[in-house]
Amino acid sequence: MPDVTSESPRDPLICSAKDCRRTAGWVLAWNNPKLHTPERRKTWLACEDHREHLSKFLGLRGFLKDVVPLAEWEKSAADR
Ligand SMILES: [Zn+2]
Repeated sequence: MPDVTSESPRDPLICSAKDCRRTAGWVLAWNNPKLHTPERRKTWLACEDHREHLSKFLGLRGFLKDVVPLAEWEKSAADR
């Protein structure tokens, strides 16, 4: 899965859903407590069509922490 924080910012941000090549508009922040420390955030990108599907996938496992519009995510990342 791509990690938005480690990719070049000029790469187009593409939805993380399998076989989807659409531009992402949403960031799903998640954490797997078995693998990650509590402050750690993994991120998936989602297009409008897959936001709900991917949120549900992570939500069912109890991993989902936050769903943020991409523009807002980038703004808060720039503030850090
Ligand atoms: Zn998609």
